[in-house]
Amino acid sequence: MITITLLGTGSPMPSPDRAGPATLISAGEGAAAEHYLVDAGRGVLMRLAAVGLGAPNLSAVLLTHLHSDHITDLNDVITTRWVMTFEPTPLTIVGPVGTRQVVDHIVASLEPDIGYRIDHHEDLAYGFTNIDVIEVETGEIDLGGAVKVSCAPTDHKPVHPTVAFRFDHGGASIVAAGDTVPCAGLDDLCAGANALVHTVIRKDIIANVPMQRLQDTLDYHSSPEEAAQTATRGGVDTLVYTHYVPPIPTGGDGADWKALGAEHFAGTIELGDDLHRIEVKGS
Ligand SMILES: [Zn+2]
Ligand SMILES: [Zn+2]
Repeated sequence: MITITLLGTGSPMPSPDRAGPATLISAGEGAAAEHYLVDAGRGVLMRLAAVGLGAPNLSAVLLTHLHSDHITDLNDVITTRWVMTFEPTPLTIVGPVGTRQVVDHIVASLEPDIGYRIDHHEDLAYGFTNIDVIEVETGEIDLGGAVKVSCAPTDHKPVHPTVAFRFDHGGASIVAAGDTVPCAGLDDLCAGANALVHTVIRKDIIANVPMQRLQDTLDYHSSPEEAAQTATRGGVDTLVYTHYVPPIPTGGDGADWKALGAEHFAGTIELGDDLHRIEVKGS
């Protein structure tokens, strides 16, 4: 079994109730548990704390793309990983080409802080945490765990490159897609998976907002209908919506979002507030 926890269901628009884009994929039990963080949006460590986990528990951080809303709190993950572990604990960050440069710049911005902490805490004298950046395009990613992780390119142009990730464990499989329009790469990754987590925007609503900057977002995201069509082509059982634009009212059932998807997908559609959890068993 693999579990999905929607840590942050928000979008670039700050919301008092929805953290930025972040999804936790967990598999295994006890000391053998593995936790993969997909994207690191605003408030991710607050939400991770709410499920009893912290930066030291992460097996790896995987970035779908380098849009700011998906990496806002990567700096927090990096620093907190370092100061909350008591021995050198490398952090693996996986992402599309360009990730290394972004991580290098984040670490450069943290240089004063890193210096303060090393100067002040003798037990941090071993230095800053190692960050192992793995830039990926397609195929299997060797992260050394029991969960098989793979990726494929998605289409969020002009944001490029972008990737989606697939997690296979114990006969269950989950695909976590970031922002993308329907594309062959995502279709290939979804084939035979049990669940698909997909970011969505309501094009039927946004199309009526007379603001060019919002109109611009229509051509590089999927609507609930398009995500449902992707889920159907992939033959998945469960489709999970996240990254709601505009935000779903907190505590709402999102019935209108589900109804749009149900016209194109016969399986189960899940959505919810931050910390909504879905257990995915193999078929
Ligand atoms: Zn994006
Ligand atoms: Zn986004």
